[in-house]
Amino acid sequence: MRTSQLLLTTTRETSSEAQVISHQLMLRAGLIRQLASGIYTWLPLGLRVLHKVCDIIRQEMDHIGAQELLMPMVQPGELWQASNRWDRYGDQLLKFKDRRKHDFCLGPTHEEVITDLARNELRSYRQLPQVYYQIQTKFRDELRPRFGVMRGREFLMKDAYSFHLTQDSLDATYQAMFGAYERIFTRLGLTFRAVEADSGAIGGSHSHEFQVLADSGEDQIMYSDTGSYAANVETATASATFTNDDQHGTVQEVATPEVQSVLEVATHLKLSLHQIVKTLIVKGVKPNTWVAIVLRGDHELNEIKLQKLNLTADPLQLAPLELLPQLIGCHAGSIGPIGLDLPLIIDLEAAKMTNFVCGANKDGFHLRHVSWPKELLNQASVVDIRNVKEGDQAPDGGTIKMARGIEVGHIFKLGTKYSKALNAVVTDPSGRAQELIMGCYGIGVSRTVAAAIEQHHDERGIVWPLAMAPYQVVLIPMHLAKSNRVRELAEQLYSDLVQHGVEVLFEDRDERAGVLFADADLWGIPYRIVIAESKIDQNVVELKERGSSAEAALIPINEITNFIVAKVRQTNQN
Ligand code: ATP
Ligand code: MG
Repeated sequence: MRTSQLLLTTTRETSSEAQVISHQLMLRAGLIRQLASGIYTWLPLGLRVLHKVCDIIRQEMDHIGAQELLMPMVQPGELWQASNRWDRYGDQLLKFKDRRKHDFCLGPTHEEVITDLARNELRSYRQLPQVYYQIQTKFRDELRPRFGVMRGREFLMKDAYSFHLTQDSLDATYQAMFGAYERIFTRLGLTFRAVEADSGAIGGSHSHEFQVLADSGEDQIMYSDTGSYAANVETATASATFTNDDQHGTVQEVATPEVQSVLEVATHLKLSLHQIVKTLIVKGVKPNTWVAIVLRGDHELNEIKLQKLNLTADPLQLAPLELLPQLIGCHAGSIGPIGLDLPLIIDLEAAKMTNFVCGANKDGFHLRHVSWPKELLNQASVVDIRNVKEGDQAPDGGTIKMARGIEVGHIFKLGTKYSKALNAVVTDPSGRAQELIMGCYGIGVSRTVAAAIEQHHDERGIVWPLAMAPYQVVLIPMHLAKSNRVRELAEQLYSDLVQHGVEVLFEDRDERAGVLFADADLWGIPYRIVIAESKIDQNVVELKERGSSAEAALIPINEITNFIVAKVRQTNQN
């Protein structure tokens, strides 16, 4: 492609709305343009990248025997009512009516539609397993669309669904998908981790997220430094390293005037946070009931773990501060679990503590040298409700470390949630009807493009991994208009490379070298070939690899095509 013919819309400024680097660079390099909040046009350069991601996904899906199909984006409300998600899915579901006043929605996901297809098309266990996928536009009316295509309202997703007679068959397909995802993100040139994850509202029992590691990521990943354990912070479990202080004294009331937070208690009593427990009062399931939550002073509540217990109101609500004196007899800063007349949920690690400090349920006082009375622990719910933190001991024996990630893929074992709701059955070997067991597997295709940029950029622009680059080579002839030798060699090289299947951007714009170099860097084209009069005399061209700190190399003119072709083939074979 000749740049003079390409829609090039690079800009130097970045919009103030673009908070993350990938969003800024996608705008500056002219990959996307916003039409409305969270809704984007993909410009030619950007679309090429998106297609590269799609191609690799298709190859790996086909490789494990998944069959591509395409389902409608507009979905009938009836199906969503049948699955009980019409209201449950919440405001992300964009609903509307057609001229006959029938309910419809824009598909945020396709479990309902695929299950409807399966119940109509699949009859017998002999047809199973079946795995279908599509690459298609989704619409979710996100509360806060942000970071460009990273969290859009309209976005491209690869979603796959599998149907089975047995759990073993689902497990096998889940493993095959897991492998395909690993190959997809490896081939794309991304550094990622597969982590155990929460199954969330979609239901089901087992799931993994694929996270592209990047400091700007919204998700926290907890992983073991020595072993294989890795989980999203929402589900990660680990044991706290515990400094057990066994010197049991007798319980003693100490004055802690004007002291509010655990940190202030710790400072006042010259203790560490892990020697103190903190107590929160939250709404119970029934109206006007309250529950006390107890955590070690240095630990954070994990709301997702807590919500799963169904012991507290959903969504979680802290007791209003002004209600506390009437409810407990003291203000927030002095609450403690001992002698508190409320159901207790005690975090596992807090329950292991001995000789600790807690509020005395009396303003301005705390208790010290407290150990848990046995009967209190017996009556309480003792469960894991905290966020794992760095330094904890991982289940595999290693030490927990934290990294930030961008969720680009998510695979779930769904079980029979949707087949039950929509009555999708096949006959089993004994001729009886059996509900289909399902799995579902998503990749955020457009988000993957943004995630790649978050991971691969420098101060000059994008640094595409070769497999994702919109073009593999940019060919920059110096003073094209003035030198016949430069023009001839450039045209020759261009057609050689193109004939060998290399994707080349031919810089035929009449611009200063500085502008051309800056644009090539901003676009992140992996190889830059510069053709100049002075170098032709030496029978060489200049080759610079984007992202490498090495100086430009001088490559003999008769070797350059083979050199590039070899590089490109290498990525295609990976
Ligand atoms: P998130 O927690 O980021 O909202 P999700 O759990 O809602 O994601 P899934 O329903 O599992 O996501 O969708 C599959 C994939 O689609 C995600 O792994 C993610 O990569 C992508 N995705 C989800 N929501 C968006 C969005 N608003 N914009 C772009 N990609 C998205
Ligand atoms: Mg979401």
